[in-house]
Amino acid sequence: MGKQYDAVIVGAGIIGCSIAFELARRGWKTVAVDKQPEAGNGSTANTCAVIRVHYSTLEGTAVAYESYHYWNSWADYLGIDDPKGTARFNKTGVLVFESQANDRLKNIRRMLDALGIGYENWNFERIKETFPMLDDASYFPPRRPEDPKFGSKNDTPIAGAIYYSEGGYVTDPVLSVHNVQVAAEAHGAEFIFSRRVEAILKQDGRTKGVRLDDGRELFAPVVVNAAGPHSVVVNAMAGVIEGMKIKTRALRHEVVHLPAPEGVDYESIGCPSSDSDVGAYWRPEVGNHILSGSEDPECDPKEWVNDPDNFNRNLTEQAKAQAYRLSLRIPDLRIPNQIQGVVDLYDVTDDWMPIYDKSDLPGFYMAVGTSGNQYKNAPVVGKMMADLITQCQSGRDHDAEPVVFHLEKIDRDVDMRFYSRLREINKESSFSVLG
Ligand SMILES: Cc1cc2nc3c(=O)[nH]c(=O)nc-3n(C[C@H](O)[C@H](O)[C@H](O)COP(=O)(O)OP(=O)(O)OC[C@H]3O[C@@H](n4cnc5c(N)ncnc54)[C@H](O)[C@@H]3O)c2cc1C
Repeated sequence: MGKQYDAVIVGAGIIGCSIAFELARRGWKTVAVDKQPEAGNGSTANTCAVIRVHYSTLEGTAVAYESYHYWNSWADYLGIDDPKGTARFNKTGVLVFESQANDRLKNIRRMLDALGIGYENWNFERIKETFPMLDDASYFPPRRPEDPKFGSKNDTPIAGAIYYSEGGYVTDPVLSVHNVQVAAEAHGAEFIFSRRVEAILKQDGRTKGVRLDDGRELFAPVVVNAAGPHSVVVNAMAGVIEGMKIKTRALRHEVVHLPAPEGVDYESIGCPSSDSDVGAYWRPEVGNHILSGSEDPECDPKEWVNDPDNFNRNLTEQAKAQAYRLSLRIPDLRIPNQIQGVVDLYDVTDDWMPIYDKSDLPGFYMAVGTSGNQYKNAPVVGKMMADLITQCQSGRDHDAEPVVFHLEKIDRDVDMRFYSRLREINKESSFSVLG
């Protein structure tokens, strides 16, 4: 006989662990299964862990702002001491440059204003007071180095940026996942590592549990897909893909680690920065490095990955393109011959907004399609999913009568239809990692 649980969670990344934590807190007997040897060793291991609050939609901004409050009081949120230590949220603030791509920040300012999130408007003189190594030339649209027009300046330089203080980054995201695992265990949650879920078990048209790759069966009326870039594989096991209007697929992404310019202590002065004019985001990294990724401008080809267990983990020409684009904004940037960095997968939906929902198979839920931008939201996602699951298991038809989730820190409601697998493509999206 397999063991009986209230819920099995497939995946122990930041999302799966947060769901386990919140369900366990509500008295559910949970088990999270991960094929990796430790929690957070999937795509979360390579996240840039930027905690920003600006998104292109009001819901996205509200959920990110709510989540920020949990990162800002991480130890209180966990309520335990992890013997490995507590992850550190570095509250540096966030800088977002004006660009044609973000309509000169009009929409972002509107969202921040609507939620009462404070920010300062910085002209380039003010920017240079804090970041003297930045150049104000505009290069929009972002181009690849092989483009003959690469590096040609527009007539008008960038006017400025907004800076808000309620943001930053987490220095050790794997430790943050371990923290949540330990917090969940304190409430009785179980974890099984180094085992792959091979099948979703069903009985009488409902979820019955999962089968692992060692033949073991775990029984539960609830199974949650939190498999990150493997979401499509797990949804296929459950046979729920046809019933989804919005789909997910894995996208390869490179992040480069570059030394800061000579004489600049970027590790001390730096903050997460978003620059759609050159199509780059970056933040400080230990060792006085700058870590930078692409904001998915049109010029960058998209590398969709069919098999998330088998993709090229080596940096390519894309890494060089990102480094050269960043050097337009930071002219003294040192670009080594051998660029260092990491490669991992985003789990991207058709509109780059996540799916936090039930499925057409009763008892089977999904927290997927995190589209390269949901690490920061995990504390709230755990709570939203726990509410959704609890209400649906009590008989609520979420498709007909959507769950409304209350963001308690900022005292605001979110209609969870926003995250539905049945939604139309959200046209307000940036259709990029910016969400
Ligand atoms: C390069 C990069 C940079 C990013 N930067 C940011 C950022 O700055 N800010 C931000 O908010 N977000 C960022 N993101 C996005 C964020 O990291 C993800 O949204 C988040 O980590 C996803 O967490 P997850 O738990 O859903 O997925 P994962 O961490 O991938 O966890 C899924 C787990 O499921 C397991 N699994 C899969 N299939 C099975 C199976 N069949 N059986 C058992 N286990 C299985 C995997 O082993 C894995 O551990 C970034 C992502 C990447 C890749």
